[in-house]
Amino acid sequence: MVGRFSLLSENPHRTDALRSDRARAKGLNYSLNEKVQSTLELATETNDTGKKSTESRIALGNLFRCSGEVGRAIDLHQSLLGDPSLSEEQHGKSVFELGMDFMRAGLFDRAEAIFMDLKNDPSCRDSALQQLLQIYQHEKDWLNAIDCTEALKPSGKIRRGETISQFYCEMLQEALTANNPVLANRFLVKALGEGSCPRAALLSAQMAISEQRYQDALNILRPIPTEDSRYNTQVVELMIECFEDNENILELIDAVGQMHADHPSGEIIPLVSGMVRKKQGIVAASRFVQGSLRVRPSLRGLHELLVLIADLPEKEAKPYLHDLSGISSQLVFCHPSYKCVQCGFTGSELHWRCPGCHHWEALSACELPVVHSKQTTH
Ligand SMILES: [Zn+2]
Repeated sequence: MVGRFSLLSENPHRTDALRSDRARAKGLNYSLNEKVQSTLELATETNDTGKKSTESRIALGNLFRCSGEVGRAIDLHQSLLGDPSLSEEQHGKSVFELGMDFMRAGLFDRAEAIFMDLKNDPSCRDSALQQLLQIYQHEKDWLNAIDCTEALKPSGKIRRGETISQFYCEMLQEALTANNPVLANRFLVKALGEGSCPRAALLSAQMAISEQRYQDALNILRPIPTEDSRYNTQVVELMIECFEDNENILELIDAVGQMHADHPSGEIIPLVSGMVRKKQGIVAASRFVQGSLRVRPSLRGLHELLVLIADLPEKEAKPYLHDLSGISSQLVFCHPSYKCVQCGFTGSELHWRCPGCHHWEALSACELPVVHSKQTTH
């Protein structure tokens, strides 16, 4: 290793290659180059012996990995393992970084073997489990991902969304694709047992719909927006399916009206408008969209209303025109004219010095959407 490392720092061709590789590496910035240089110098100065040198060589390998030179990182970390002067801690660190190199190279089976071993070492157990969790998610090995998450739970070192219920939902969807409702149900029970999970609730409603248990599906769907409004579009899409064979869509209109009032969305009104038009005709659909726009104006809603009244007879369309101008002015004037690129301050007039962050010339005009090139519409 000593020979190989000296070659790297002394051979001008290798150094040149290193430099040009570095320049090519995507996202590699000046400060990283600086770090590589200083690590390189530090490693050379310490004459490749002692603790400081080992730490520097581990760090240099990491920098190789970060700059995309994974082969070099593997070589360096692997050669360190053959060094008998390494302390137990340094050996453990080198093994861990070698595992990270394998991860970066996409050699997941080799990385898995390393982290499986390291998870038995209390000093790096959590970090090893975190890497194993990434491997299992990548390989869609959900059962092992669940085991890792369980083991990581007490430490709280779990990324947002990496929940056991998500993994059960993945298996549930696989079972549904494989047309195995018994297995799907088993995973659904497990996913729901993990606490509030909107995805599990949506899947549960979807399964009820496929079994034509529409009332059950609606009972599942109705509380979702109160708990988590991010998936209102998905909730409405499933609700619409529940009313496909039902002429009385009052319950649907009520539920969606409430959702729109609580969490205004431009998307859900046009979704339901189509259903209202199909069941109750164009006049009812126009009234429904007009009512929703009065509560919460939106560009998508305005577009939907224009499409509907374009199909109405002239006499019936006229009363809507007054509303259209009112709604469009609300949309235009609620939009701020200027926004600070530094702090996000918005206002209706131009300030040369931002009142929020006091930067000069930081405000720029924020225009309403303008189509700059001719686009095909669908
Ligand atoms: Zn500002």
